Amino acid sequence: MALIVQKFGGTSVGSIERIEQVAEKVKKFRENGDDIVVVVSAMSGETNRLIGLAKQISEQPVPRELDVMVSTGEQVTIALLAMALIKRGVPAVSYTGNQVRILTDSSFTKARILQIDDQKLRTDLKAGRVVVVAGFQGVDEHGNITTLGRGGSDTTGVALAAALKADECQIYTDVDGVYTTDPRVVPKARRLDKITFEEMLEMASLGSKVLQIRSVEFAGKYNVPLRVLHSFQEGPGTLITIDEEESMEQPIISGIAFNRDEAKLTIRGVPDNPGVAFKILGPISGANIEVDMIVQNIAHDNTTDFTFTVHRNDYLNAMRVLENTAREIGAREVIGDTDIAKVSIVGVGMRSHAGVASRMFEALAKEGINIQMISTSEIKVSVVIEEKYLELAVRALHTAFELDAPARQGE
Ligand code: ASP
Ligand code: MG
Repeated sequence: MALIVQKFGGTSVGSIERIEQVAEKVKKFRENGDDIVVVVSAMSGETNRLIGLAKQISEQPVPRELDVMVSTGEQVTIALLAMALIKRGVPAVSYTGNQVRILTDSSFTKARILQIDDQKLRTDLKAGRVVVVAGFQGVDEHGNITTLGRGGSDTTGVALAAALKADECQIYTDVDGVYTTDPRVVPKARRLDKITFEEMLEMASLGSKVLQIRSVEFAGKYNVPLRVLHSFQEGPGTLITIDEEESMEQPIISGIAFNRDEAKLTIRGVPDNPGVAFKILGPISGANIEVDMIVQNIAHDNTTDFTFTVHRNDYLNAMRVLENTAREIGAREVIGDTDIAKVSIVGVGMRSHAGVASRMFEALAKEGINIQMISTSEIKVSVVIEEKYLELAVRALHTAFELDAPARQGE
């Protein structure tokens, strides 16, 4: 007998019919003898609808009041699911975050969980009840309702699993797992049976948005085994877990992530003195602009070039700041490019394998794709390329690192 926390997202509880289907599913697990805590999101579209209402009153709604309102979405779905379970003869009880006592700090709309009281939940489980908990919400020390940020129900699920020391936290959603890359770009993308927390964080922060990033961090910190599964299709899903002992079959690369959200800026002919990087990037961070990749060239004739990337939304702003800096420090010129894309290969296997980066560069060279920037970390190699080659690059790398699914019969 296992204790499982199951989280169902907005599309999985998007209609009465779906809620009934979820109840059927939970009932089956109960009949297997497992103890179940269910976390649900609001019905799909509901949180957006509520925020829309608030925006009709004020462009910037008071955060405390916004949380009072958006938390109602989840209050509806917990009650409906509990009713659907009880109708099927499965004893169940629903709780809001406040009722459980999911204690958070007071940062409305982006609160962090501080502590979870597991007493009530344990009593209910012992009595054979399924406990249905509202995702995304908590309560601060003063009794104010708080919410955890968009997509926060994932974090509620993981936090409950950690507090209850559950055997697994299952995230049910509208995809059947985590893929080697976006199947819309590479039809031969494969579902991964397993991925490590670290890899998942890299994949998620690079654009594969299956899980709220914070929930993956949380799961890694408390070592909660996380599984992503399809709500209404059978299948093993993808297990996200710690890096186990290296096995012979461990692939070097687990997945390929990409994004088109960045833009590149270059300042040329910068006098090469100590403090130059600070003079260039200080004002950028002063303008609250986050920098991702950075490259500084070796000096030539006592000047150097300096290139970095920012989010595309920050491009114009960064350009203005950089032009100012160029004038002040006597740099030759500033140029920029928004038609770029970042492609990354991710895998814990590269820690123990040499030549991974050069294999990547070879695959890109074979397609005639020029690399503009490179950055590496222990489990990732990223390159910036011209945006129009993005899909070609991802496909070429997917093949080069042997990630393609085997052709099915008849293909
Ligand atoms: N309902 C919230 C949202 O739409 C939380 C969640 O779905 O996880 O962001
Ligand atoms: Mg979600």
